[in-house]
Amino acid sequence: MIKINNFLIYMKLILATHNKNKCLEMMGILSNMNIELLSLHEFPEIGEIIEDGATLEENALIKARTVHKLTKLPALADDTGLEVDALGGDPGVFSARYSGENASYSDNVNKLLKEMENVPNDKRMAKFRTVMAFVEGEMELIVEDCVKGIITNVMKGIDGFGYDPVFYVPEMNKTYAEMSMKEKNQISHRGKALMKMQTLLQERLPKTFNQMEDLPKT
Ligand code: IMP
Repeated sequence: MIKINNFLIYMKLILATHNKNKCLEMMGILSNMNIELLSLHEFPEIGEIIEDGATLEENALIKARTVHKLTKLPALADDTGLEVDALGGDPGVFSARYSGENASYSDNVNKLLKEMENVPNDKRMAKFRTVMAFVEGEMELIVEDCVKGIITNVMKGIDGFGYDPVFYVPEMNKTYAEMSMKEKNQISHRGKALMKMQTLLQERLPKTFNQMEDLPKT
């Protein structure tokens, strides 16, 4: 951290997630900002963070606050849920554990397809919702965004992670797993939430992120 004309300049931001796919997606989006991005891989002493919040917002804050407290760095976390209309909004905040504790991505996808077996095509609407939290000292920022889609009958595509192979986005005529990471980032729940957060950060901390080169020299 450096101080210039009373502005505290934070040159580092830690992404508070152990999920490699999320990390890659978020790093791809934030790569245009003039900051050093760190991931939890650089802090192996930080183990699994218990996400026991009742909402996506609570879980995002738990992750960002915990990592900020342990590293003293500005921390950014997301929590995401797949909300399926025909299942009353499930799996929602339980998306990672839909088919039980320690469930794999394919366990969860298979359970979802099974639960949706008898749901007709015109009733398969769902949305991915992401809440993103930034924590630095007293400052806590929260944004959220979502993307509407349709749960397919079978898996399609091999890229991405989690429920990507069964989440079809009509505007793109593809599932998330059929998109490149760049395509997914441009339209995805996480991509849109992160772009909102980027705008907030640039407004709140103008000298910190995108205008480093404009700073007066000391
Ligand atoms: P988390 O609690 O935010 O890590 O996400 C919960 C679960 O939602 C993950 O374990 C994934 O199964 C799923 N998930 C989150 N983001 C995505 C995504 O972008 N595509 C597909 N599945 C996702």
